Amino acid sequence: MTTFAFATLAVLLALAALRAPIFIWSAAVGVMGASWAVILEFGPATSAALAAVFIVLALALNVPALRRRLLSDPVLALFRRILPDMSATEKEAIDAGTVWWDGDLFSGRPDWERLLATPAPRLSAEEQAFVDGPVEEACAMADDWEVTHERYDLPPRLWQFLKDKGFFGMIIPKKYGGLGFSALAHSEVVTKLSSRCNALAVTVMVPNSLGPAELLLHYGTDEQKDYYLPRLARGQEIPCFALTSPEAGSDAASIPDYGTVCRGQWQGKEVLGMRLTWDKRYITLGPVATLLGLAFRLYDPEKLLGGGEDLGITCALIPTSTPGVHIGRRHLPLNGAFQNGPNWGKDVFVPLDWIIGGREYAGRGWMMLMNSLAAGRSISLPASSAGGAKALARVTGAYARVRSQFRTPIGKLEGVEEALGRIAANAYMMEATRVMTAGAVDQGEKPSVISAIAKYHLTEGARACVNDAMDIHGGKGICLGPNNWVGRGYQVLPVGITVEGANILTRTLIIFGQGAIRCHPYVLREMRAAKELRGDEASMEFDDAFTAHIGHTLANGVRTFLHGLTRSMFATAPIGTAPETRHYYRHITRLSAAFAFLADVSMLAMGGALKRKEKISGRLGDVLSMMYLASATLKRYEDQGRIKADLPLVRWSVRRALYSAQQAIDQILSNFPVKALATMLRWIIFPLGTPFRPPLDSRNHECAKIALEPGAARDRLTAGIYLPKGEADATGVLEAAFLATVACEPIEKKLREAVKRGALTPRSGTDTAQLARDQGVITPDEHAQWQRKEALRQRVIRVDDFPQDFGRAEILQKLGDVQPAHAKAA
Ligand SMILES: Cc1cc2nc3c(=O)[nH]c(=O)nc-3n(C[C@H](O)[C@H](O)[C@H](O)COP(=O)(O)OP(=O)(O)OC[C@H]3O[C@@H](n4cnc5c(N)ncnc54)[C@H](O)[C@@H]3O)c2cc1C
Repeated sequence: MTTFAFATLAVLLALAALRAPIFIWSAAVGVMGASWAVILEFGPATSAALAAVFIVLALALNVPALRRRLLSDPVLALFRRILPDMSATEKEAIDAGTVWWDGDLFSGRPDWERLLATPAPRLSAEEQAFVDGPVEEACAMADDWEVTHERYDLPPRLWQFLKDKGFFGMIIPKKYGGLGFSALAHSEVVTKLSSRCNALAVTVMVPNSLGPAELLLHYGTDEQKDYYLPRLARGQEIPCFALTSPEAGSDAASIPDYGTVCRGQWQGKEVLGMRLTWDKRYITLGPVATLLGLAFRLYDPEKLLGGGEDLGITCALIPTSTPGVHIGRRHLPLNGAFQNGPNWGKDVFVPLDWIIGGREYAGRGWMMLMNSLAAGRSISLPASSAGGAKALARVTGAYARVRSQFRTPIGKLEGVEEALGRIAANAYMMEATRVMTAGAVDQGEKPSVISAIAKYHLTEGARACVNDAMDIHGGKGICLGPNNWVGRGYQVLPVGITVEGANILTRTLIIFGQGAIRCHPYVLREMRAAKELRGDEASMEFDDAFTAHIGHTLANGVRTFLHGLTRSMFATAPIGTAPETRHYYRHITRLSAAFAFLADVSMLAMGGALKRKEKISGRLGDVLSMMYLASATLKRYEDQGRIKADLPLVRWSVRRALYSAQQAIDQILSNFPVKALATMLRWIIFPLGTPFRPPLDSRNHECAKIALEPGAARDRLTAGIYLPKGEADATGVLEAAFLATVACEPIEKKLREAVKRGALTPRSGTDTAQLARDQGVITPDEHAQWQRKEALRQRVIRVDDFPQDFGRAEILQKLGDVQPAHAKAA
């Protein structure tokens, strides 16, 4: 009997795990039930009664019309009652963009073959030439200290260079005079610029992300495109996009800025137009913009357009020279010197055909913004964050080798090594995520949830890196000046955290909140059936989605449990993948099943309240994000040909991601509102306890070593950033000092050994190397090499000091009348 009980359990688990159709379930349950009746020797009456119950249930589940009437329709009615109504803007946000690898991770069965078959993203020869040419040149022209302390702006020469070389038209097709670059190329450019100067990167980013060009490309009328796109591509127009207002930040859909459709005078004629009133703030490039992309709510009280009165959010292009437009004043965002400021207007009359897309698009602005954001958010901030992280890995590794304390390069002290190893591994994972996400956009995806994951985790990754880098640099990172290469990055970092959706909201509302509806294989269908369909159509659609949903949840629950019992041994991994990483794929597959199961049970247990339980939904979002970041890291390892020297970075990053995902699940369970359910979930998800551990110290040591050693692994880790040539620049000096320090290590060893055996006695005020040369411990060549290294080292450890006024008087005199035209105008 025990054997048969086990066999029954095994059959039930197998049916659930394999998502057997209902009729197979019914047949199997019928056969097993009959067998149990025989084994347990039920009498004929009991057997007949049980058989009757079984037949009724089997019919109710297998005959669609009966199933709908008895099961799905009542659930549909309940669903309609408890499902909160979605506002039009929420619906437009959900509908925006596409689902890609996030859908796989949400399914519980990621199709690894499909992911790995996606071609490794590559730049075209022309794009690579642009990165190696004009981008390199722009970086060389940008002196971050001059930009952030002296001018509070890019120098006029650099502004002009950016315009002339087409930096503002990277996303504009060639037929309009733009560069027509891929998302990857756009991302590479921003990566390199941001490794040099934040203001430079932001200035280039904005015209190429959510703004006039992007909106015109997708929604503009031919006339608007033909006029504006060539002007934008040439930098003849400087665009900005103004959505945020003092009252509406994160809740941008609630903007109080408004326009009223009315007749008015325009260039001597009476035309149909809009009278606009707005008050915007934080607008990047706003103070110097010539073309304002403006978002406002449009009303048509006289129904001149023949529709309703409240038409909804609308986007229009307003030349800033239009009478009544106020621009020019500036904010100072954490000493970031990019142009940013408020703008406003009151009762400004403009023609109706200034609406992007013309009057047909009146009221469709939110949909336009959400769709554009889905792709745009995948590029700019992930690129600037990855660029920052790679630059930090390079300079911090170099500094940690050049700077010694306790007669040891600080990078070799374990405490410093721990932080440095984290920077290196973070930079690897962030770069992997940047490239994979930009590659997805180039494949035609507009990944709304993935773009939120990339934006959130890469900006947070950059924050982690810069915090570690600051700690490692000590006072050298604190004292600002031309010789400080980390301080400004540290200052300006929260800007990326706040823009394009402030991170707390992005994590708690978008990644899981939007993901649960958008990426889940059935929830959106169920919601549509409940809210948008009626009658039989709703009943049939809901029945189909709901029964599939039950099968999906059961399958994921059983698979989670079995993977837990077998420690992911039988979870899927791509065929032919590297043996050294195969187990990671299996663990992610296990996590994906656990996540899908947990998400379903959480939605069932908390319903609409889950939206307000942001501590739970934020952690669910973390699990999804960690799986995405780990997938990107594994794909990078494959795409780059499984370079063994990079393996420590892969191992550290993936292991950290697995551990973080596990901890997030653990915390969800500890805080789950229904305690009995939490106990059951814990038992199913972690039947043998929590399996993942944080990365090992030995792995962290290997990661730090990559940042501390000159060579191919360090160059790969930091590829794509700007490397100053020569020693005119502080980071150029640092790189030279780093190489010289490493080259002098054999000399240093000779000196140390000579001291040990008493041949040399170092004393304050005496030059030990000179003494060593005089005594023949080192050769004259070695002495020269040592002296050069020392000179470089002293330049590296030096920090800046200033006169009482921090040099303001001298700066003002130096700038004189070479301010850019926009600065004089303001
Ligand atoms: C330097 C800079 C440049 C910018 N550039 C532009 C631009 O070019 N164009 C433009 O239109 N806008 C721009 N912005 C605006 C930016 O998008 C907003 O700052 C952002 O949307 C957040 O709005 P807020 O600053 O008013 O914060 P608030 O909305 O006041 O939010 C404060 C905090 O509350 C959190 N929060 C809010 N709602 C929720 C919620 N439901 N759940 C959990 N947490 C929540 C936020 O995450 C944030 O942490 C820029 C901002 C800055 C600082």
